[in-house]
Amino acid sequence: MENTTLTLDTLSRPIKDLRISVTDRCNFRCTYCMPKEVFNADYKFLHREQLLSFEEITRVSKIFASLGVRKIRLTGGEPLLRKNLPTLVRQLANIDSIEDISLTTNGVLLSEVLAVELKEAGLKRVTISLDTLDDATFRLISDVDVNVEQVLQAIGHAESAGLTPVKINTVVKNGINESSILPMARYFHGSGKILRFIEYMDVGHTNHWKMDEVFSAADIIREIRKEFDLTPVDANYQGEVAKRWRYQDGGGEIGVISSVTQPFCQNCTRARLSAEGKLYTCLFATQGRDLRHLLREGADDKYIADVIGSVWAKRADRYSEIRTSETALLPKVEMSYIGG
Ligand code: SAM
Ligand code: SF4
Ligand code: SF4
Repeated sequence: MENTTLTLDTLSRPIKDLRISVTDRCNFRCTYCMPKEVFNADYKFLHREQLLSFEEITRVSKIFASLGVRKIRLTGGEPLLRKNLPTLVRQLANIDSIEDISLTTNGVLLSEVLAVELKEAGLKRVTISLDTLDDATFRLISDVDVNVEQVLQAIGHAESAGLTPVKINTVVKNGINESSILPMARYFHGSGKILRFIEYMDVGHTNHWKMDEVFSAADIIREIRKEFDLTPVDANYQGEVAKRWRYQDGGGEIGVISSVTQPFCQNCTRARLSAEGKLYTCLFATQGRDLRHLLREGADDKYIADVIGSVWAKRADRYSEIRTSETALLPKVEMSYIGG
């Protein structure tokens, strides 16, 4: 597919970013994402043949690129559970107009060797999720027998391999880990890594989200200001998810993703592709458009581009702006499936 046609949705938002879930499985059972009582019980994970192959992901990514996508983030579930991920990264890096490929991971499988392989394949950056430095709290949240030290090692491997700047995602859940905010800020202050605090969201419907479990962006900033002076920083680009803050003492910057209390839908340029090839135009969607059957049943690239373009052209999503305690109960797709 050659040149790009600019595709705008009903709110004049272009399609610029693609998040690709490469698997719906995970080696963690974070209580806010894949609670054990559901995901270790009768949850139906995708079978191998249902997953898009690397060739299918690459082909559809090229088509997305022809519609305006410039950035790809690989995610899941836990993307490093997918074998030979560097092979996929290499294929995606060969798409001319893709400028940035990144990965979100819980880090446990990110060995020194794999970090180097991913970098050599064309991965630019890694975001590693870590909600606390306290082992007991970490186990309470991730619900697996893993130590914080293992994640810190992965952060080190990512940095040594040049997958920088390494970002750290910290979800804050009221009553669970707000006391970890300051220790996290202290630990990463001046390290060159960018800590991003995320408000707990009502993604999926298995986590039984409640508004009073959200620790707000304003409270997160207030907490950090108990010890550090912070000034707001302008966004790097339109559509940037995190609101940025800089330490006045030169210790770097942090981000706060305030999807619940300060929604940013009007700048949302993200499409999501589930591991089985369904296109979703919002993290909080209840339905996606199946692209896999088009890929597998002989549709040509032009036809698939037209389908994606028409889905995007009809897009009116602004869930975070219209969230209520009632919408929180809708049967939304799980984040591990759609790709976080
Ligand atoms: N398994 C990888 C990881 O944890 O980094 C990638 C997928 S995970 C779904 C992507 C991100 O979503 C993680 O940073 C995770 O903390 C965040 N996340 C998951 N459930 C969330 C929720 N209910 N609210 C806010 N963030 C959430
Ligand atoms: Fe797994 Fe990431 Fe979800 Fe935790 S947040 S259960 S690590 S997919
Ligand atoms: Fe984008 Fe949907 Fe999130 Fe709004 S709620 S920022 S439209 S993914």
